[in-house]
Amino acid sequence: MADAACKGQTSHFFAPHGEQADAREHREAIARSICVACPVLLSCREYARRHREQGYWGAENDEQRMEARRRPQRYRLVPATSGGSQS
Ligand code: SF4
Repeated sequence: MADAACKGQTSHFFAPHGEQADAREHREAIARSICVACPVLLSCREYARRHREQGYWGAENDEQRMEARRRPQRYRLVPATSGGSQS
């Protein structure tokens, strides 16, 4: 947290009540520009995924984080192949 590039810029990382889509897109673009230059991006992202945080963390919004958490489960649902040819 001491190295966080977002220190003092909370308003770009959490949606105000009733935020509209255009405003959200603009706010998250600013947050993303801060995150991509942050020295702790990967650990921040991992923390937010693990703790199911809300808001913009590690260059991910809530939907992106949820999708990332689902990914391993999706892979598990893919049936294993026999590894051999069917012909
Ligand atoms: S990655 Fe983004 S949200 Fe996380 S500490 Fe850095 S600037 Fe803040």
